[in-house]
Amino acid sequence: ISDIQHLITEKAAKFLARGTHSLLIDGQWVQAQSGQTMDVINPATEEVLGKVPSAGKADVELAVSAARRAFDHGPWSKMHGTERERLLLKLADLLEANAQSFAEVEAMDNGKSAAIARAVDVAVSIDTLRYMAGWATKIEGATNDISVPIAPQAEFVAFTRREAVGVVAAVVPWNFPLLMAVWKLAPALAAGCTVVLKPAEQTPLTALMLGELILEAGFPPGVVNIIIGDGPSAGAPLVSHPGIDKVSFTGSTEVGKLIGKAAVENMTRFTLELGGKSPVIVLDDCDPATAAAGAAQAIFFNHGQVCCAGSRLYVQKKMFDRVVADVAQIAESMPLGHGLDPAAQMGPLVSQEQMERVCNYIDIGRTQGAQVVTGGGRAKDKGYYVQPTILTNVNHGMRVQQEEIFGPVLTAMPYDDLDQVAAWANDTSYGLGASIWSNNLSKVHRLIPKIKAGSVWVNCHSMLNPAMPFGGYKQSGIGRDLGKAALDSYLETKSVFIAV
Ligand code: NAD
Repeated sequence: ISDIQHLITEKAAKFLARGTHSLLIDGQWVQAQSGQTMDVINPATEEVLGKVPSAGKADVELAVSAARRAFDHGPWSKMHGTERERLLLKLADLLEANAQSFAEVEAMDNGKSAAIARAVDVAVSIDTLRYMAGWATKIEGATNDISVPIAPQAEFVAFTRREAVGVVAAVVPWNFPLLMAVWKLAPALAAGCTVVLKPAEQTPLTALMLGELILEAGFPPGVVNIIIGDGPSAGAPLVSHPGIDKVSFTGSTEVGKLIGKAAVENMTRFTLELGGKSPVIVLDDCDPATAAAGAAQAIFFNHGQVCCAGSRLYVQKKMFDRVVADVAQIAESMPLGHGLDPAAQMGPLVSQEQMERVCNYIDIGRTQGAQVVTGGGRAKDKGYYVQPTILTNVNHGMRVQQEEIFGPVLTAMPYDDLDQVAAWANDTSYGLGASIWSNNLSKVHRLIPKIKAGSVWVNCHSMLNPAMPFGGYKQSGIGRDLGKAALDSYLETKSVFIAV
């Protein structure tokens, strides 16, 4: 810490200087029952950034019991929407007041730029808390004017109630650690649920910082519990616990399927936000430089570790060489460096495992006949950096064209006409996002309905807003985060018939 202390806020330095962190269970900071800890690694330096408890089944048991008590009997169960709104707004204000510290810790834990973390991860977290706070006071049922054929003489007052689904298990990944936690917490708390949050074991720190603010804001004990641990030891017992009413998961499709199966055993409700292989479709009417800049941003933002990253580029034939050359030039001019370096445009990948996985995919591409236009492997000897990479000479039979690489690797293919590119865009098991680059409105509108994806962006990519639902078609998931759709997924509907 002493080496970087001068680069970060006092609050971030103090938090990191603790060295060993704790789990948040029932409003208390505690160690794991087993006493075990695990190291948190700074991916830019490969050094240990801190230690966190490694939770297991016994800790899950305590956290679920605390959340259960808070939901069934605690003060939370008697709080009205106005009070939940006030607490969520207070939390947003506290996060805003500490935005820089959160951004710095996120940068060191995940590898991303602190400037980006502040402008995106932290800023959108604050917006999401405020947006969802507003819904807490707008949870409404409906009254219906009904008759019932088997009771023709009776008159009825009939209405629906929306009720919080109960205790939520929120399991999130490492690419946007704080933001993904808030995407789950904000609608769940607005709806009146209580939560056991399990951050990714690679990036647990900002969730723990948020836990401190949750207590400071005044959320009652047990309303938010945070356990840190790996998938098999902590995630699996959490999502299969019978005391959980809903699982909200963001992560890989592979783990999403396991979670779906475990949830169905107990008929636990679930929302799954999973992987992607999103196409970027460039039509030949648009400015090639603008399209290339957009395509570069679509894949290299967050070092390609974005579920909706534009990882497949399709350019109409006559512009293909020009656009690919421009994206390559952008890739080659991007300085790589650690998250606290203001000059760096791309940082390290989150872990050694992720770096090796991405480099392995580049090698698989080569072996299957892809041509490496730029990049092609690890950058630097220290830190988990991967060169921004572009592969051409690819086809839909290749693994690099079908599988989620989750790193700064772009595949590029030329296409002839809109029917062909629409078919290719849909020719993966995923369906999270897609972007279309064109100023020809009728062509754009003809393409939009053909694309099987939860979000379509035109002349932009990866745009998000708390009011706009986000989620996937096909194997990119089930359900939606954000928007009113997210709030609805934390509510049950009860139909009430009163014979009068
Ligand atoms: P991952 O699936 O390996 O892990 C995600 C979380 O699940 C972690 O907290 C992990 O500990 C936990 N987990 C692992 N095994 C588990 C099990 N058996 N039971 C319960 N929990 C378990 O994913 P990752 O590598 O951390 O994240 C990258 C993936 O997340 C990518 O596929 C990416 O596309 C996806 N993602 C999707 C979205 C979206 O909104 N659709 C957003 C961000 C990331």
